[in-house]
Amino acid sequence: MSTKTRTPVMAIRNLVVDYVTQEGPLRVVDGVSLDVHAGELLGLAGESGSGKSTLALAAMRALGAPGVIRGGEVLLSGDNGVEDLLRMSPARLQEVRWSDVAMVVQSAMGALNPVLKVRDQIIDALVAHGVPKARHAPRVAELMQSVSLPPETADAYPHQLSGGMRQRVVIAMAIALRPRLLWMDEPTTALDVIVEREILELVAELSRKEGFGVVLITHDLPRMLEVCDTVAIMYGGRLAELATVDVIHRGGARHPYTSGLMAAFPSLHGDESALQAIPGDAVSLRQPPTGCRFHPRCARAQASSGCMDRTPPWRQTNRLGVACHRADEPE
Ligand code: SF4
Repeated sequence: MSTKTRTPVMAIRNLVVDYVTQEGPLRVVDGVSLDVHAGELLGLAGESGSGKSTLALAAMRALGAPGVIRGGEVLLSGDNGVEDLLRMSPARLQEVRWSDVAMVVQSAMGALNPVLKVRDQIIDALVAHGVPKARHAPRVAELMQSVSLPPETADAYPHQLSGGMRQRVVIAMAIALRPRLLWMDEPTTALDVIVEREILELVAELSRKEGFGVVLITHDLPRMLEVCDTVAIMYGGRLAELATVDVIHRGGARHPYTSGLMAAFPSLHGDESALQAIPGDAVSLRQPPTGCRFHPRCARAQASSGCMDRTPPWRQTNRLGVACHRADEPE
């Protein structure tokens, strides 16, 4: 899929997030900039602790203590033009959540009210955003159909549904107000692989049909590469690479960490015997390495290129980019 050049639905600019700890602040997200466009599925990948989930929560302004947003912008494009979500009044934030930007989290059960029927939970969201009563029943019916659930599911309680059905309900609630952007943080972790595949394919289909952008965080890299258009790779709180899935499938990753991640996961239909783990441990944010944070684990690290003492700058071309001193050198 070609990269898009029109105004993004969300533009994250130089976002910086710390966790305040007794030993001092830990910089968990360090100057990340990222665009998401209408109808685009962007995968956000990286090892545990790379900052993906913190980035998502900060960009939703839903980050709790000990997280503190130190700087940056989260620019939302909507009917009111471009607004910085980080500087909105609480009332305005309440308005844009769910109607402009929504989030699906890992635990469907945690996201649903166990004592309310599905229908009533969806209607609560519609009422909170001023949708007229006459639209409630038709919208609930449309949503059940959109997420391929039988209409009678609307009259069930969450505990009467399977895990996969509950996650479809959560997705229906998230898109009930037709947001422009949907964050999905490990939305299928608790589900078996078949249901996981069905749910992610459903989200991809809805995104393309209804035109909302999606940021998908999942530990399942092969599945991410199957459904997404673009992949952003994070390492140690920073963006390492932004590449199209087509480029990655063709072996065109430019950052050694991206290539390492690809080699560490089995392809969806491939041979697991050829897997290669990335050597070394994930970066310590308490004492990050100087220069490129990946250098202690990187087979291409080279002192004369500055890998050990200079932070690689982010270099971007046509929306795609990489932060590696040696990205333009042949391997
Ligand atoms: Fe490896 Fe150097 Fe590139 Fe970092 S900057 S990924 S150490 S080659």
